[in-house]
Amino acid sequence: MNRVYNFSAGPSMLPLPVLEKCAAQMLDYEGSGMSVMEMSHRSPVYDQIIKDAMATLRRVMNIPDNYKVLFLQGGASQVFASVPLNLMPQGGKADYIVSGQFSGKAYKEGQKFGTVREVATSKPDNFTYVPKVEKDRFDPEASFVHICYNNTIYGTKFDYIPDTGDVPLVADMSSCILSEPIDVSKFGVIYAGAQKNVAPAGLTIVIIREDLLGNARPETPTMLDYAVQAANDSMYNTPPTYPIYVAGLVFKWIEETVGGLDKMKEYNEKKCALLYDYLDGQDFYIAPVKKENRSMMNVTFKTGDPDLDAKFVKEAKAAGFVNLKGHRSVGGMRASIYNAMPIEGVEKLVDFMEKFRKENV
Ligand SMILES: *Cc1c(COP(=O)(O)O)cnc(C)c1O
Repeated sequence: MNRVYNFSAGPSMLPLPVLEKCAAQMLDYEGSGMSVMEMSHRSPVYDQIIKDAMATLRRVMNIPDNYKVLFLQGGASQVFASVPLNLMPQGGKADYIVSGQFSGKAYKEGQKFGTVREVATSKPDNFTYVPKVEKDRFDPEASFVHICYNNTIYGTKFDYIPDTGDVPLVADMSSCILSEPIDVSKFGVIYAGAQKNVAPAGLTIVIIREDLLGNARPETPTMLDYAVQAANDSMYNTPPTYPIYVAGLVFKWIEETVGGLDKMKEYNEKKCALLYDYLDGQDFYIAPVKKENRSMMNVTFKTGDPDLDAKFVKEAKAAGFVNLKGHRSVGGMRASIYNAMPIEGVEKLVDFMEKFRKENV
């Protein structure tokens, strides 16, 4: 077996012990005589799996009791629609900070449902930073303020939590959930597609403050109504059973093996510092992101010459570092170093970068 260092932005690496556990339990989950994939979602054995996963996530993220956790499908992209349907009445208003492509997509989707406003954007500067927005710039009558906390494509991250007063703050945390502790009580809704930092694709996590439930518009499809999903413990229909099982293993891995989110953050800080310190100490590669907005999870860099970038990506792949090509909309390189990326992978990548620099400077 030869596993590569996979720097994919998503779907991405999963912790090796989790994959090994999946393999060990593949044919016979704890004496049930079947794979988790083959189980009825209504069976007692599966019921325990989903309940454990939810409970572990609540402990790991320290989610307050007045929040519901939903395990849904449709990806973060579907939440772009379900948030306005659940939170904004007909003819309502919402504010969006557009700090990258996904928050731009969320903003565009929001336009279908009400009067939405782009409060601030960093688009003119190619999304190389996250706009600072003070409380008085938000509309107090807005149904919510939407942000994308970590911008996967550009490698930027909010270095503050916007103060939105009484207006619920909704955050897309698809590419940073569980990378560090977060004060959930500062948010009305936190959501994430699982395929970056949690599980295989197919699971979408929504964490919502209870008082925001129950106001979905009448035309909201049943499956998108958070109150229905909450009342049915995310089992209104068949949930993504296998990704939920893997997510449960990942939550346990963070809790027991890593030692919780404080430890996870320490590890992630160490990993990204290796890259950023290296980038700051040379002038062959360019790191375009403003320092205070550098992402811990997605590190972007380029040489400034697209042909040289392509050469880098190709040679990196041959050396066992895959998926380093930047998003098609920005070019250059991007190393996505989510929770599951071991520090050795980053150390070796830095060695490779230095070798490539010497050969091409
Ligand atoms: C990947 C990603 C998305 C899109 O997620 P899907 O689950 O594919 O819809 C949205 N937002 C962010 C921040 C992402 O990283």
